[in-house]
Amino acid sequence: MRKLYSPKTVREIMDLYGFKFTKSLGQNFLIDKNFVDKIIGSADPRGKNIIEIGPGLGTIGYEAAKVCKNLILVEIDRKLIPILKENFSEFDNTRIINEDFLKLDLEDLIEKDFGGEDYQVISNLPYYITTPIIEKLIESKKPPRKMTIMVQKEVADRILADVGDKDYSSLSVFIKFFAKASRVTNVPKTVFMPKPKVDSAVLDLDLRLYDDSVDKKKVFDLVRAGFNKRRKTILNSLSSVVSKDKLCLAFENLGIHSNLRAENLSLDDYINLVKVIETL
Ligand code: SAM
Repeated sequence: MRKLYSPKTVREIMDLYGFKFTKSLGQNFLIDKNFVDKIIGSADPRGKNIIEIGPGLGTIGYEAAKVCKNLILVEIDRKLIPILKENFSEFDNTRIINEDFLKLDLEDLIEKDFGGEDYQVISNLPYYITTPIIEKLIESKKPPRKMTIMVQKEVADRILADVGDKDYSSLSVFIKFFAKASRVTNVPKTVFMPKPKVDSAVLDLDLRLYDDSVDKKKVFDLVRAGFNKRRKTILNSLSSVVSKDKLCLAFENLGIHSNLRAENLSLDDYINLVKVIETL
């Protein structure tokens, strides 16, 4: 097997297949084995069902294929499919799908390929659709047990931020609702080909069972309303979804000051607000 992470190999494959990078598909291939190992080390794919989104040449997936139970590679760019077919020809546990991950019937795939069993996701994500991909996975009827994903560093900072941090955002609250997030490593822009403009980070999202005693749509309506008008007090920003009378009663009940801003409330505060408002 050739070293797919070596810039020389990438250039050889590109020449052989006449492949050119498509910037609009977020194609920045990893060319440093250390970071491939960090992703694989954290995902620990041994004996597991794995989906890789956007495998590119297969640099990360190749390491997973050696040890996992089943591997599905979902790649949108049809020019990469013959390259992937060749690079994974030695494995009979791997299936290559040429599709847009956002259009894929995920539940059907998991049922048919994994017999409905648990699975994990690994990906050096195409950054232009980071949030839609994460949302699709965690809001699915069959979410992965864990996701080990490369994202832009600034997105990682926003996901990991807590109340009081400058990067705290609706994304921070949204992810906390579903998952325990941690940073595996930061990744410099120099380890990609072509070199992107931004630094990256690898995150682990462990999807624990969320609090299903609360209506998640109502929680996210409140979070979105709050952060959409983050300069306003919560009494004003949240009044686009709940009446001010009810808000005042709920704030009083929970001991929350009505002149706070959305960024001052934790996930638990938002959950408790929804629960109290439902009783009014
Ligand atoms: N995994 C490879 C690596 O680390 O070297 C490539 C990562 S590159 C950042 C993102 C990959 O996602 C590209 O191969 C791109 O073609 C693919 N991609 C972009 N949009 C996609 C989509 N909607 N569905 C599936 N794959 C997509």
